[in-house]
Amino acid sequence: MKIGVLALQGAVREHLRHIELSGHEGIAIKRVEQLEEIDGLILPGGESTTLRRLMNLYGFKEALVNSDLPMFGTCAGLIVLAQDIVGEEGYLKKLDITVERNSFGRQVDSFESELDIKGIAEDIEAVFIRAPHIEKVNSDNVEVLSTVGDKIVAVKEGNYLGVSFHPELTDDYRVTQYFIEHIVAESKKANV
Ligand code: GLN
Repeated sequence: MKIGVLALQGAVREHLRHIELSGHEGIAIKRVEQLEEIDGLILPGGESTTLRRLMNLYGFKEALVNSDLPMFGTCAGLIVLAQDIVGEEGYLKKLDITVERNSFGRQVDSFESELDIKGIAEDIEAVFIRAPHIEKVNSDNVEVLSTVGDKIVAVKEGNYLGVSFHPELTDDYRVTQYFIEHIVAESKKANV
């Protein structure tokens, strides 16, 4: 399958590598017209205010709000997908959740944790960098896949997957492979 990585800002190369390791074709997406070529899109981590500004500038907000393309958001990408952001207006509003930015506190800016992610694996090494968490799930359609303590860090709703961490920074590509071979594949099947 052909999977795009939104290439305006953030950890693009690492996601392309995980797509290739999963046995699929990765494409860096810089223009809205390229969305036609792909089966699914990854919104990478980075800085979500900058990311949203660039998405506005290049027309991605409008294109993606009106699209059914399966999407996977990591860290800043999760913030971009959320219906609500604490203290800010939600952006693409694809995942019916409320996220809080930078919510693991200053003392623990970055950390690693081994996660049990429902339906994917029980031992995913997850890297959190100034990570958001999912404060609230606002609909029964949202499935909670993983938590760290009492904080939700991975969810799925229909064609959308969102995680607080950076799966692309380790050699373990099972989360990306799950997005492609379950979420993207199933949406493709449903649209034939
Ligand atoms: N703290 C960043 C934000 O709020 C996200 C960090 C990341 O993507 N690693 O946009």
